[in-house]
Amino acid sequence: MYCSLPQRRRSKRMAIDVWRDPEGVRMALEEMFEQDYARAQTRREAAGANEETRARMEARLPARTMAWGYYRFADHLFHLDAQRRAGLACHTRDLAAFEAEGLLALDRARTAFEGRHPACSACGQRQLNRFGVECPGCGVKFQRKKA
Ligand SMILES: [Zn+2]
Repeated sequence: MYCSLPQRRRSKRMAIDVWRDPEGVRMALEEMFEQDYARAQTRREAAGANEETRARMEARLPARTMAWGYYRFADHLFHLDAQRRAGLACHTRDLAAFEAEGLLALDRARTAFEGRHPACSACGQRQLNRFGVECPGCGVKFQRKKA
């Protein structure tokens, strides 16, 4: 099975312009990871809140700062990545150079995100930062690694 070619062909022209700015793509990817995290966090915190409080919390979510095309391309990369992770054979020769570069940028952005927000080893919840002493999800205490 191959990557869904029609969609890739359609997005190709749109993405090339954006890919001339790899730094912008990287920033858009990082923002998307952080927004997902903030949204999940808000959803947890707002679970018992009333409509008004929930709306106020959602208004606090970080806004996107890049042009629309960057997120569009980032969405495309997430889509390719999901196919790759699902084990659908994505032949390198089916990827345009900017897509291959984009997937590398996505891997880097994910690694950076996971470094900033390590997952709890007990419940898997991503943490606010690397310096927490206790998981807000399950309450497990983190052992400080001795330097
Ligand atoms: Zn936990």
